[in-house]
Amino acid sequence: APGTVLITGTTSGVGLYATKSLVERGWRVITANRCSLRAEASASAVGLPTNSPRQLKHIQIDLGDLDSVRNGAKSLLEDLEKPLDALVCNAAVYLPRLKKPLRSPQGYEISMATNHFGHFLLIQMLLENLSKSSRPVWKGRSWGVESSRVVILGTVTANNKELGGKIPIPAPADLGNLSGFEEGFCDPISMASGKRFKPGKAYKDSKLCNMITTQELHRRFNSSPILFSSLYPGCVANTRLFRNTPKLFQWLFPWFQKLITGGFVSEALAGDRVAQVVSDPQFAISGVHWSWGNRQRKDRQQFSQELSDRVTDPVTSRKVWELSMRLVGLK
Ligand code: NDP
Repeated sequence: APGTVLITGTTSGVGLYATKSLVERGWRVITANRCSLRAEASASAVGLPTNSPRQLKHIQIDLGDLDSVRNGAKSLLEDLEKPLDALVCNAAVYLPRLKKPLRSPQGYEISMATNHFGHFLLIQMLLENLSKSSRPVWKGRSWGVESSRVVILGTVTANNKELGGKIPIPAPADLGNLSGFEEGFCDPISMASGKRFKPGKAYKDSKLCNMITTQELHRRFNSSPILFSSLYPGCVANTRLFRNTPKLFQWLFPWFQKLITGGFVSEALAGDRVAQVVSDPQFAISGVHWSWGNRQRKDRQQFSQELSDRVTDPVTSRKVWELSMRLVGLK
């Protein structure tokens, strides 16, 4: 039976279409956005119901602001009648043309703050609630309880086992020795590695942290009833994620992905893939990074994508976890 899912970043792109697919599958969807009105307008533009909070409800959380995450998660927990059955960490910013780092209210570089720290804190605050989920599932002969799921959007450019992860524009994802986190991650520091600010790399590093978080959650909560996975939904080259890239790039990139690499995936298909990872029984495996490959073929099946050492190394992972706990104010 479908349950209740919280998903971040649904005003456009993958998150909006994942919301659509999940509502159509009968899930109750709660969206978290920095502006609930825009979330509602986008949902309504793709035919989703308004004024039906049992099906679709919008709450306000700015993931770039840890206070907003804390307050938003707290009021959500107070309002929920039943535990959440799934959490999808989808929201992200990509700001490759910044000359200088933008800072969150806590003083952190904004792409790491939004994409990683906001989600990291949100997950920590919701874990206990998610572990109480008791979604019934028919197990052939009798009813059982379906595990709850935490699903995190990863990407090919943060995994240097894949070609897309090796591209040196501006540099592959790399957290170095994490001295940037260790030293508090505030001005003048802007990168996890403590090195010079590269805005495009800041995005990749934040997505690497997202994928490391998935692996570390899987390791730490192995015996909990929650399943943790990440996914690469394919190259959704026409979403608003690319709104801050040069106009020519925005025009060429989808064509390049359609005609040259064959990696292009529509927002609808990417959204549906997220919904599958949330709800389908084939995806009920913890610790997997799901992919459908970089060259799309019709009816291609998902597989467990091999991850680079930068994602799986347990020592780095533990360090990312501990430093993130400290930087979101939980330790
Ligand atoms: P979009 O820009 O279309 O969607 C991003 C969403 O995040 C928007 O709803 C945006 O809302 C929201 N968001 C941004 N900042 C915040 C914030 N501070 N608080 C709350 N919400 C926020 O991008 P995509 O759909 O392409 O990306 C979705 C996810 O998919 C990302 O995690 C991305 O890394 C991942 N991904 C995307 C790929 C692609 O090819 N597009 C490939 C691989 C992974 P707002 O309107 O407020 O800005």
